[in-house]
Amino acid sequence: MNIPNYSKEILIKLLKGNEQFVNGKYEAKNITIETLKALSHHQNPHACVLSCSDSRVVPELIFEAGIGELFVVRIAGITVGPNVMESIEYAVKKLKVPLLILLGHDNCGVMEYAQENYPNIADNFQGILKCVYPAIECDKNALTSENQLAKQHTLWAEEYILNHSKIIKKAVENKELYIAKCHLSHETGHVHLLNSNLEYIEIKDI
Ligand SMILES: [Zn+2]
Repeated sequence: MNIPNYSKEILIKLLKGNEQFVNGKYEAKNITIETLKALSHHQNPHACVLSCSDSRVVPELIFEAGIGELFVVRIAGITVGPNVMESIEYAVKKLKVPLLILLGHDNCGVMEYAQENYPNIADNFQGILKCVYPAIECDKNALTSENQLAKQHTLWAEEYILNHSKIIKKAVENKELYIAKCHLSHETGHVHLLNSNLEYIEIKDI
């Protein structure tokens, strides 16, 4: 895979941290008040994670990361709008993170709601639905599988970010940033890296 070296190093570190979580060997460092005190006036996170707000998706835990390691942007269904985009841009431009993880997950309530309502725009949660419908339009199979829709939507999120943010597009083109599309399985706790065909990529093939 064509990933800048530093981005690759961080991605592998986080995916290996996920293996530790999966195997019940969680050993995150930097989770005490001393770490917070040491970082009182600055931060230098390794990566930005765009995650669903779902209570079961907790980036620091599933990647075995401590305080100050991840710049996390959380929003229901990883539905990207202007404020979310600017939060990610802050991580890329100001904090110079070399990695952006887009983290979808199983059994996402937003995907279920979109499937129930497609193609109508319901009275509630319109902004969210408008972000998810393009993924259904790309792949009609996504109408019947919630997890397939979540993966398709992660692909959409990457495209949307690259098409709407000059800062992020430029960082990717300059090989200062890699965008990793990932999916969390609730059954196993595994975070799977996805390629553009939504197939899983093993750590050894990164
Ligand atoms: Zn969700």
